[in-house]
Amino acid sequence: MSGQSGTKVVYKNIHLENSHTLAVSKANGGYQAMEKAFGMTPAQVIDQVKKSGIRGRGGAGFPAGLKWSFIPKDDPRPKYLVCNADEGEPGTCKDREILRGDPHLLIEGMIITAYAINAQRAYIYIRGEFVREAEVLQGAIDEAYAAGLLGENVAGRGMHFDLAVHRGAGAYVCGEETGLIESLEGKKGQPRLKPPFPANIGLYDCPTVVNNVETLTSVPDIITKGGDWYSGLGVANSTGTKLFSVSGHVNKPGNYEVELGIPLKTLLNDYAGGVRGGWENLKGVIPGGSSTPILTASQCETVTMDYDALAKAGSMLGAGSVIVVDKSVCIVRAIARLSRFYRHESCGQCTPCREGTGWLAQVMGRLEAGKGTMKDIDMLLDISGNIQGKTICALGDAAAMPIVGAIKAFREEFEYHVEHGRCMVG
Ligand code: SF4
Repeated sequence: MSGQSGTKVVYKNIHLENSHTLAVSKANGGYQAMEKAFGMTPAQVIDQVKKSGIRGRGGAGFPAGLKWSFIPKDDPRPKYLVCNADEGEPGTCKDREILRGDPHLLIEGMIITAYAINAQRAYIYIRGEFVREAEVLQGAIDEAYAAGLLGENVAGRGMHFDLAVHRGAGAYVCGEETGLIESLEGKKGQPRLKPPFPANIGLYDCPTVVNNVETLTSVPDIITKGGDWYSGLGVANSTGTKLFSVSGHVNKPGNYEVELGIPLKTLLNDYAGGVRGGWENLKGVIPGGSSTPILTASQCETVTMDYDALAKAGSMLGAGSVIVVDKSVCIVRAIARLSRFYRHESCGQCTPCREGTGWLAQVMGRLEAGKGTMKDIDMLLDISGNIQGKTICALGDAAAMPIVGAIKAFREEFEYHVEHGRCMVG
């Protein structure tokens, strides 16, 4: 694994002029993977995606091919495909770039996926704030319909496939697949208890696959070049390329597509222009979006950006949203802000999350203001322990994990707030 091979699966055409149009897409290989897929059986398509080892790029990291294979084959109910374009995890800003820059690659990925799971209808659930992205996407879908790539007879191959854009209202919890399904059905976006999983009881109680934008956009190259080719990128258990959204205190924040397994230090120094003020000025990195525990600067020296290495370091790859924090940042203040976010976004359905996120935000606020006690620090851990693993969806864990991680890595900053009534960094 080089991590720096320069291979692009998702961002291959995104920098071309008018890359969002059908003409540019087709001139650069667009819809050829779809043609190849039509020459295969649906089972063969699923097999290639399984072989590729690609794991869902939205955060949970579930193997995509396996998810597709759970759709029952001899079931008379309609099957649905839903693209999760909600992208609400703070720190994440990759999917919107695909939607704006190469919507046809996503549409092609969705046609292939629908063919594999025998879905005739699909929705792209897009965050309401993505106004421009929704417009570009709708334009691309209109173009695809006009060109016969969507509708009753896709590309003259006899496949019926309709695709519609559905705009959400900007709730974080609608990024959770069952909350998204509820919202799509016109109800409050409150996650469902699982099982049953969407593969069996999903949209309108029918078998449904929900995949992230980046996952679906990776499908055309997996079909064109083969699952074995894709699994040769990255490292074991974390195959392929990944978009990393690097934000915070780096000189060149942005989205970078690299192979999984790249050293974090290489990602920051060689791609994101280095840490503001130099590597010595690094305090920590939140590696996978706001819900993932922060890594200390010393961990950042050696950790690699893949599922296993980050789990071993006590964090997660999540959606690949790398938030870089330099020494000017007060960790207590930063985490207190995240706590307020999660309190606000809790859907209120289950008690540990509804009450717990409020308590966490309250105690964090007290500590930030210099009015906390040493007992408060341990109480945060206690409350977190009563949330994690005890809720319907992962939002409860998402609220607790950053706090537990920050106390573990930067406990002295919390204690400083108690002892001095202010933050360490002035
Ligand atoms: Fe709602 Fe929170 Fe329960 Fe998720 S964990 S269902 S957001 S209350």
